[in-house]
Amino acid sequence: MARYTGPVCRICRRESVKLFLKGERCTTKCPLDGPRNAGADTGSRGSRRSAGTDKRTPPGMHKQRRRKSSEYADQLREKQKARKFYGVGERQFQKAFHEADRRSGPTGDNLFSIMESRLDNVVHLLGLGRSRPEARQIVRHGHVLVNGHKTDIPSYQVKAGDTISIQQSSRETELFKTIAEGFGNARRPNWLSFDADTWTGRVLSKPGLGDATLPVREQLVVEYYSR
Ligand code: SF4
Repeated sequence: MARYTGPVCRICRRESVKLFLKGERCTTKCPLDGPRNAGADTGSRGSRRSAGTDKRTPPGMHKQRRRKSSEYADQLREKQKARKFYGVGERQFQKAFHEADRRSGPTGDNLFSIMESRLDNVVHLLGLGRSRPEARQIVRHGHVLVNGHKTDIPSYQVKAGDTISIQQSSRETELFKTIAEGFGNARRPNWLSFDADTWTGRVLSKPGLGDATLPVREQLVVEYYSR
């Protein structure tokens, strides 16, 4: 996947929603939370119009242009929002959609169950990575153990009963010492448990669409790929 190396907050502005791509900064110093955006309604065209220099306006020189969005544009934006939130490339997201479609049950539910079960997402939700991009890098660099085995594939699908921990040698590094300070602040979903003493998380059940951390209209994503 071609890696995007430009300004990260621009991605959130494009989707008019906080995608939490920068870890702690997203809660303490997010430009979308600035005074200019107070009261701004995410995704509301009316708020964009009146906002002027609102940071929620899409980036680029044509950001002020008003136009009624088409059905296709809505589907595309919803798909892009979900894809960027989980930090995956188009081909990978498309592959996940086809896998979701192949499984029994609603495709939208299956798709978000697959995305939530990604190892990089689980590492972030457990508080072992401050953002999804950081969690992805932690996995890639081989710091993560799944059921005691080193696993460096961010798209690895965790299952109920799996344990996720960090290599003993990695816990001594400055990076993980800083991450450990935030263990108490992490808001973990009900389908995961975490023991801060042993740095071990456990998958209690399979996540569903209701567990998705991003409010998403999954039907639009399904419609986009079903065209
Ligand atoms: Fe930037 Fe994070 Fe705010 Fe997004 S949520 S605009 S990445 S600070």
